[in-house]
Amino acid sequence: MRLVLLGAPGSGKGTQATRLKEHLQVPHVSTGDLLRAEVKAGSPLGLQAKEVMARGELVSDDILLGMLEDRFSRDDMARGFILDGYPRNLAQAAALDALLERIGQPMDIAVQLEVDNELLIDRLAGRAQAEGRADDNPESVRKRLQVYDDQTAPVIGYYRDAGKLAVVDGVGTLDEVFGRILAAFERQ
Ligand code: ADP
Repeated sequence: MRLVLLGAPGSGKGTQATRLKEHLQVPHVSTGDLLRAEVKAGSPLGLQAKEVMARGELVSDDILLGMLEDRFSRDDMARGFILDGYPRNLAQAAALDALLERIGQPMDIAVQLEVDNELLIDRLAGRAQAEGRADDNPESVRKRLQVYDDQTAPVIGYYRDAGKLAVVDGVGTLDEVFGRILAAFERQ
């Protein structure tokens, strides 16, 4: 199964991806996690990305595509994957399709986790206290939600037009949302 998770910051992509990874036995590729690992390692890429991420803005498409190509060149991707955090704009969506076509592994399904803005803000505020992420301060949270609305939301239409979109209600317990995602697989 080749799947991409779509949804705003705080919509639960990472949490559900962890569950799905166990269930599907395929790698979970989170571009946010890959970038945070680079920042932590202090690599040149990490140094470039650090401030941009802390502000809640998007790291450049070139950096992301390079990182993704690198990750997709590994053998474990042959069984399928769960992609989380990418694509975040229409250019990235097109670049991803080109990459997947090149390796003969087209996307099967895009799952959008739908959660309204007020709840997102509550969830992110809770996470800020629990995890202390550099971009969970109120100003960066506002910026990330705005970037999502402006640049990432159009990606939903991209997958809808391709006939690959499944919309899932992201409000409820972890188990409830997970069950809805599995039901969406059946429908697709
Ligand atoms: P969230 O979705 O909760 O905001 P992520 O962990 O997915 O968090 O991403 C954190 C940050 O990493 C983003 O705000 C952005 O700066 C950077 N980032 C992650 N994925 C991408 C991407 N595909 N394109 C550009 N920047 C990205």
